[in-house]
Amino acid sequence: MVNRTELENKVIPYKILLETLQNTYDLVDSILLDNTIPSLKIGLKYLIQNIEANIEKAGDGLPVVGHHFAFQSEYLDCFDVVPICIEGTSYILSALLPDGVEKYYDLMRNWGHPFHTCSSQKGVMGMTLDDLFRFDAIICPTAPCDNTMASYPYFKYQADVPMVLPDMPFIHKEKSFKYYAKQIKKGLEDLGKIIGQKPDWDELKKHLEIDNKSINTQLEIFELKKAIPCPVENFYNAMSAAVTIFMAGKEEKVKYYDEMLESAKNNYRKKKHHGGEEKIRCIFPYMLIFFDLGLCEWLDRELGMSILFDIFNYNFTKPIRTTDSLDTMFYDMARKGMEFPMMKQSTDFYYNFIDDCVNMAKEFKSDCFIFTMHIGCKQFGSVVQVLREALRDETGIPVLMLDLDVGDKRMTSMKVLRDKISLFAQTLL
Ligand code: SF4
Repeated sequence: MVNRTELENKVIPYKILLETLQNTYDLVDSILLDNTIPSLKIGLKYLIQNIEANIEKAGDGLPVVGHHFAFQSEYLDCFDVVPICIEGTSYILSALLPDGVEKYYDLMRNWGHPFHTCSSQKGVMGMTLDDLFRFDAIICPTAPCDNTMASYPYFKYQADVPMVLPDMPFIHKEKSFKYYAKQIKKGLEDLGKIIGQKPDWDELKKHLEIDNKSINTQLEIFELKKAIPCPVENFYNAMSAAVTIFMAGKEEKVKYYDEMLESAKNNYRKKKHHGGEEKIRCIFPYMLIFFDLGLCEWLDRELGMSILFDIFNYNFTKPIRTTDSLDTMFYDMARKGMEFPMMKQSTDFYYNFIDDCVNMAKEFKSDCFIFTMHIGCKQFGSVVQVLREALRDETGIPVLMLDLDVGDKRMTSMKVLRDKISLFAQTLL
């Protein structure tokens, strides 16, 4: 008979993650004064609950299902499973472990996977090669990039994990949403056959409704960021990305945003900036730098630079309609999936991205953009120059481009990145 520890050992990186989160929380709780970095303390509290619950479920013997970050975990709530976000897990561990997850990138490189592929997937791929994750199935849409499509077959062909691939078109039109809606439903039915469970659409509906509850709160926080100074600390962006990925469809996500809204309103009333004085307002139109999230605090406190938002914090979709027909519900799920951060930008032509950036620069009175040109994202390599020209012509503000791997400090070190940002900041003051 399989014992509980053996079952929990199907998700060893989650056990490591839980320990790291608890240690970080204890440190934050004992060292930092109250309300010093509210997003960190509030987010850690709910993340710990979420990871604990998932380890518990693994111990109960529920199937471990890996999913791409853009196949939102609340869609898997129609099953009793342990959802593991491949990209989210790689990057949260790269942020929290002292040496990141570089050991696992190297394992994959030695195995033969190219060095320039996306570290968001390579981390968990290496952990699977090292037998730390044992997936029962994986579900991944055919998007947003060549990396995804070139990396996921590893799980099927090397790790022998059954895989479901809902097909996602790259044109964002009504007919595509209808097509992808059918693909999501079929994908969940196929996944059910693999893990021996029938999808429960009522349970799915319940979790979609929970997720709907946080949309207006997120929008209210987004609106508050138009204020000068920005009433939300930079770290909020990093924590919100984790909350969006790990707690979709969960009450903890709703509570996190409710508590953060209170904190933002409080700062707004007092015109309080997290770093003391806001000198520069900046937009990261793409990703933050996950291997060292300390950058968020450094920018706030040392340079007085607010990160108004990053890619995970300016994409919002309408709530999913759950009370009409199942077809309407899946249509909205498809729309949400295709407009998810990074899917929206990387699976379509870039005109909308450029328009959004120009409009946000004006509306939020941004002084500059910092574009993290991640080595994995080949599809976005040409966009930076077009964005630079559009922002210069339409708003007169500059763009700093950082060449890096957002999950691996060995490509561009944090010292080099901080030096570049410091020099750039001097040109703005
Ligand atoms: S779009 Fe870029 S960051 Fe996102 S999964 Fe693909 S390569 Fe990685």
